Amino acid sequence: MDTFVEEHQTFRDELATIARDGRRRWIYARQPSGRLYRARTVVSVFLLAFLVLAPFVHFRGQPLVMLNVIERRFVLFGTMFWPQDFYLVVLIALGVLVTLALSTVTVGRVWCGWLCPQTIFMEMLFRKLEFWLDGSAGQQLRRDHGPWDRGRIMLAVRKHAIVFALSFGLANVFLAWIIGKDDLWRIVTDPPRQHVGGLTAITIFSLVFYGVFARFREQACVLACPYGRVMSSLIDPHTITVTYDSVRGEPRGKRRKDAEAASAGVTGDCIDCFQCVTICPTGIDIRDGIQMECVNCTACIDACNDVMRRVDRPEGLIRLTSHEAMRSGTGGWLTARVTAYGAVWLVLVAVVAALLWTRRDLDVLVLRQPGTLYTTTLGGDLANFYTLQAFNRSNRPVRFSIDVVEPRGATVMPLGPLDQVGPHGLLEGRFLLRAPTSALTGASTPVRLAVRADGEPAGEVVSSFLGPASTVRP
Ligand code: SF4
Ligand code: SF4
Repeated sequence: MDTFVEEHQTFRDELATIARDGRRRWIYARQPSGRLYRARTVVSVFLLAFLVLAPFVHFRGQPLVMLNVIERRFVLFGTMFWPQDFYLVVLIALGVLVTLALSTVTVGRVWCGWLCPQTIFMEMLFRKLEFWLDGSAGQQLRRDHGPWDRGRIMLAVRKHAIVFALSFGLANVFLAWIIGKDDLWRIVTDPPRQHVGGLTAITIFSLVFYGVFARFREQACVLACPYGRVMSSLIDPHTITVTYDSVRGEPRGKRRKDAEAASAGVTGDCIDCFQCVTICPTGIDIRDGIQMECVNCTACIDACNDVMRRVDRPEGLIRLTSHEAMRSGTGGWLTARVTAYGAVWLVLVAVVAALLWTRRDLDVLVLRQPGTLYTTTLGGDLANFYTLQAFNRSNRPVRFSIDVVEPRGATVMPLGPLDQVGPHGLLEGRFLLRAPTSALTGASTPVRLAVRADGEPAGEVVSSFLGPASTVRP
């Protein structure tokens, strides 16, 4: 580690947002500008549109995304996953987790700064709104340290009313992500007493979002988010992340004229202007080295590049590089750890792709009805009761039939309609399986049923048939 970083380790004992006496230090981050901020803005427009519209846009008869954890029904890009597909949902979640780990090991906390909904809403919606309503960071700071006059009260009321209204809108969208737009619409339009639970959820979500975006803000990343802590521990000297080039920047010179000294090699390129600090949304000084509070937003890169242009020094004093590359000028990112994570990721993606590819539209589950034994029919045959569940994953109705493969001579007698299941539907029913005693092999005879969907073979289901223990094949 660089000497200058070792000398400045005290920052690791405290948080930039909390004073020594425990009081909150409010961060008045300047508004970023520059190449990377423009790129982030473009990315955030697409992400905001996706986050807000995903539950309302339908694709293949289903919302783009629905994560109904209450009923364990999930829809991802028009593909529905029933509780029976839970293993697939778990594998997909595992794949997302490994993707995040792999991306963090290689390119740092790119998720935090560029893709996380908390950052997107905080930095690209609410903070921009603040700049628009309350002026620059300097104006906000001066006003907040001034008297509570009429102008300040009016501005505060206006801002908090708008933040709460947006939080209320987000709460509705969030609920739509869980229960879908139709159920949300019913909650909104039906008499309130019919949806006390739903309305309570909207109220709680609204208050939480308002609290997070109006007060808690960057503390969500710095203090509350477990992902930030876990992912920070994955970063190593080969990880490409936002890095201050201390080799080039130190010793830093305070005054602008020191830039001339820098050219002469007396001081480093850093002119100690603090532009990278005052723009940081988590209030840290990236020149102290990589820190857990850094969300990789790259705002300090834009700020420093702007300074370097003004003092006629090369851009990139703060840049996306690895600590190793900054120190030695070399250092590839393809380490053994990256290779191992990459291999796990590839296996997971291949398994999930294969399972999705081979997944049938119709899934039939047959169980012998619990608590029942065999019964004897008028003709002397034996019969067992079964329950049937048919899940249709497609967006069209599916006709199906059940034929007995084993035991020979057995027949299915439906107890109610058991031949068609609607689009994305679930059909539950019962049937009687009637078998001649000559076909049974004892107290429990294996049962194999062939399923046909729309006339095509759609797999087999197995169960068992209970009979008297003395039954023997002739
Ligand atoms: S913006 Fe650049 S020059 Fe200014 S203090 Fe930060 S690293 Fe140094
Ligand atoms: S140090 Fe730079 S990249 Fe990290 S959070 Fe602050 S401004 Fe963003």
